[in-house]
Amino acid sequence: MEALVLFRKACNGDKGAFGQLVSLVENNGREALGLLEQIELAKGNTFTVGIVGGPGVGKSTLIGSLLGVIAKDGRRIAVVSIDPSSPFTGGAVLGDRIRMQVHSNLPGVFVRSMGTRGYEGGLSACTAEIIELLCALRFDVVIVETAGVGQVDLGIADVADTVVVTLVPGWGDSIQVAKAGLMEIGDIYVVNKSDHEGAFAAVRDIELMLDSRQITGRKAKVLQTSATSGVGIKELWEEIVAHQGYLSSSGQGIKRRICRLSTIIKRSVFDQLASKWNGNQIYDLATEVVNERLRISEAIKKAVDGINEVS
Ligand code: GDP
Repeated sequence: MEALVLFRKACNGDKGAFGQLVSLVENNGREALGLLEQIELAKGNTFTVGIVGGPGVGKSTLIGSLLGVIAKDGRRIAVVSIDPSSPFTGGAVLGDRIRMQVHSNLPGVFVRSMGTRGYEGGLSACTAEIIELLCALRFDVVIVETAGVGQVDLGIADVADTVVVTLVPGWGDSIQVAKAGLMEIGDIYVVNKSDHEGAFAAVRDIELMLDSRQITGRKAKVLQTSATSGVGIKELWEEIVAHQGYLSSSGQGIKRRICRLSTIIKRSVFDQLASKWNGNQIYDLATEVVNERLRISEAIKKAVDGINEVS
């Protein structure tokens, strides 16, 4: 099987095979599931980190600086950058691909962009599968950078172990940030561009908002970084390590993985539903409901039963 050959090559450090493997999974979710079943699944030794934030806050620069700190000790790191897709080609924006290539020259660092393909939440359809695959490839660290386009990428919280929310000084109306759901998902908050005025005030605002949040478990830390000069990057990595330590000692890490696998299962069911029933057929079922020939629950049951007929 092609995917398995690529997987073995990627395991041996072949960066080309790594890229092809990610593309394969990106283009074919079922292929990904087949592969995941053939390989030994992750044992939970990989750090999976989601970097979330609006466009231009410095996510890519931050990851670049972070790689400089992490890669030093010979760690193997995978970076998957979820790019905004062009609505016309479905492909990742070229500029982002080029920007990420700068990092990919470091030894032990594997970088790949994926398009969002119009899925809501800024996460590409197969992100959870990709993360599982990269854990199985025994990467020490997997970093997922989300598109940061439009609606903030809340889906990351379902697939990554440590979520780093990136903001900048003067990030605007704090109510907007709270409304966007950002205050719910972060394990670590970073005020990047701390060389700009207002960084301290931004930290204080975030801390105030976090204080009013109902939390169970570990309180999120708020850090300042300047990705371009490297200030605060070592501290950010130490905080990520501390959070991962908390996840494994508290048992929360297992819960996050269960959440990631739930995402895979739900998406697969949704895919099967979508491939069995096209929009017109669903429309016909809804019409039956309107004409009182079916109850809505019966229409739903018909749609779900349709999946079982396929497999
Ligand atoms: P992304 O869209 O979130 O990935 O943002 P980028 O990493 O592409 O950064 C956007 C711009 O902000 C670039 O011109 C960076 O050089 C700049 N930038 C990133 N981090 C910092 C920082 O800490 N301080 C300053 N002054 N500029 C930064």
